[in-house]
Amino acid sequence: MPHPAIERARERVIHGRIPADAALLHEIAAIPAAEVPALLDLADVVRTEYCGNGIAVEVLYNAKRGGCSEDCNFCSQSARFATDVEPEPLAEVEGFLATARDAHRRGATEFCIVVAVRGPSKRVLDRVCEATQRIKVELPLTVAVSLGILTKEHLIALAAAGVDKVNHNLESSERYFPKVCTTHTFAERLKTARMVKAHHLELCCGGIIGMGESVEDRIDFLMTLQELRPEEVPINFLNPRPGTPFGAYSLLEPSEALRFVAMARLALPQSLIRFAGGREITLAGLQDLGMRSGASGIVLGDYLTTGGRADAEDFAMLDRLGFEVLA
Ligand code: SF4
Repeated sequence: MPHPAIERARERVIHGRIPADAALLHEIAAIPAAEVPALLDLADVVRTEYCGNGIAVEVLYNAKRGGCSEDCNFCSQSARFATDVEPEPLAEVEGFLATARDAHRRGATEFCIVVAVRGPSKRVLDRVCEATQRIKVELPLTVAVSLGILTKEHLIALAAAGVDKVNHNLESSERYFPKVCTTHTFAERLKTARMVKAHHLELCCGGIIGMGESVEDRIDFLMTLQELRPEEVPINFLNPRPGTPFGAYSLLEPSEALRFVAMARLALPQSLIRFAGGREITLAGLQDLGMRSGASGIVLGDYLTTGGRADAEDFAMLDRLGFEVLA
């Protein structure tokens, strides 16, 4: 007999079609580790019921590496920390196009352009817009951008260029955010995320688990996302980068990582929940199980500053599990 909290979640999310609220997530967070496999099974059923059997595959493109003015404590691209990231200037448009072609060839349907900045300068914005226009003419890719804090004018220009989706992560709860970053605020992040929705662009908004936050923070983070209703929620697990303030943190326990993914699925049943950075290092041999914990998308390695496993291994996993890779 499954744990009563799992049964309550089944009744509410599957039969009642109502996302889990904070009280239910607290119950789920407290179920014993031995019950986690049953929780993952439920999250997998919720994914199938709400999202079908398709898995969305994405490639990230770091179009300007390092040298960022901000102090996000997990990030090796901050200019404030002595890390192994060598800053590189903004790529030329041809560089964007070559990587987008490669992403399409590798089997991705989504291409996310990332620029390590607080917010885009006119030069960055113009370059990203020009590259997006050319990618959309040439390739059948969803184009997402991650350009930091945005204004109304930025969003109008991005939408006009053909950008489909904007990534702007909240990273954690409002309460924990000051422990993650001090050079900008949670409120600024929330403002950008809300503006993305107001401009009718798809919102990709998630965060990083394993930065020392409490269970309460994780649940508050999910509740803020529930209110925002992002189309996509990327979930990263902290991969502690040498030289960053979080560089000596321990990896998240795999069962806690998967419990969180399942909680995210119960709180956000309709969203594309995507495994992003830290999947391989945190889950190691449990990645197949991870794909059965409620996620409906993956990022192919490489990530922004860290490697991943070979594409063939990920596609073999999806095939082995009977998923349909979305075209
Ligand atoms: S997460 Fe983004 S804003 Fe923060 S330091 Fe890294 S590149 Fe800069």
